[in-house]
Amino acid sequence: MSQFIPLITSTSITEQSAWLSALNEAAKNIDEAQHEQIIKIVPFTELNEAQVSETEVAIVANPNPEALRQLPNLKWVQSLWAGVEHMVKNLDQSVSIARMTDPQLAATMAEAALAWTLYLHRDMPLYRKQQTERHWQGYDAPLPEQQTIGILGLGLLGEKAALKLKQNQFNVLGWSRSKKKLPEFNCLYGDDGLQEILKRSNILIILLPLTDETAGLINEERLQLMPKGASLINFARGPIVDDTALSEALECGHLKHAVLDVFEVEPLPVESPLWSHPSITILPHISAPTNKTTASKVAVNNVRTYLKTGTLPPVVDRTKGY
Ligand code: NAP
Repeated sequence: MSQFIPLITSTSITEQSAWLSALNEAAKNIDEAQHEQIIKIVPFTELNEAQVSETEVAIVANPNPEALRQLPNLKWVQSLWAGVEHMVKNLDQSVSIARMTDPQLAATMAEAALAWTLYLHRDMPLYRKQQTERHWQGYDAPLPEQQTIGILGLGLLGEKAALKLKQNQFNVLGWSRSKKKLPEFNCLYGDDGLQEILKRSNILIILLPLTDETAGLINEERLQLMPKGASLINFARGPIVDDTALSEALECGHLKHAVLDVFEVEPLPVESPLWSHPSITILPHISAPTNKTTASKVAVNNVRTYLKTGTLPPVVDRTKGY
């Protein structure tokens, strides 16, 4: 007999049906390999009354908290996204939240960290500007080992990004909330660690979760600690960086360039001055898109393990907010 798991999402119908196909394909492959009970992932609206009252786990992407409240026995949700700040704020405390922790996502983010670091390291924004002016002028290129890349956040994504940059000869520093010792690069933590990483980073990459502690973290005062001519990449969440302070730091020439993949409001409104800022590169939240095939395997495996053993995957610490 099939076990029905609801997919609860506020994404578009097209997106929802693409996820349903990928999740059910993953479930079918895993079930066939293990000759066991079939899991079927269905839209929430297709559950009957008995199934609604029995449901202990749901797979979710930007769910409406009200929809989840209709499941009286819900114990946990498996998110299809890595960032879960909305759920942390809006979901009842009794419901545990498992983030998407897909190794493919970390590999894709590490690739983005390298790609956009090289973009800044090799002065591509400047050469693009010179092209528009038909201006022929070359500059010396510093060696990667002469560039310090500071990574704020050494979680699943930050650590892989740091390793990738280290493998490409950059000098890497990392910063996290707790003290860490990693053999490949120096790790800093706490307020003193933040000051040090800001002072030493030629390129700062933000890979922190959005929490009460990280909202507004990169403000005017902290941007001023960065070396003159440094650049910033935000792959995490828009509200971690004060946009006004960043624009000012770029305009006065203290910072050279910013690559922004995430914004307080997404899509970035057409009237936002950030679009036309000469020292800002805008990306439409694409540094690490979730791969439906690999993420579905992770989600289905976690749900299956729970149904078989009652064991939940690692869940968000609601007091820390991530
Ligand atoms: P994670 O595994 O939870 O790691 C978070 C890291 O941030 C940890 O190292 C943590 O420190 C550190 N941290 C949290 N709060 C801190 C604080 N107040 N001070 C210092 N360090 C702090 O998260 P992840 O999977 O790496 O993902 C990071 C974020 O990337 C997500 O939350 C999401 O917003 C964003 N993301 C963006 C995209 C995109 O396409 N743009 C895609 C996926 C994810 P400890 O190690 O000490 O706990």
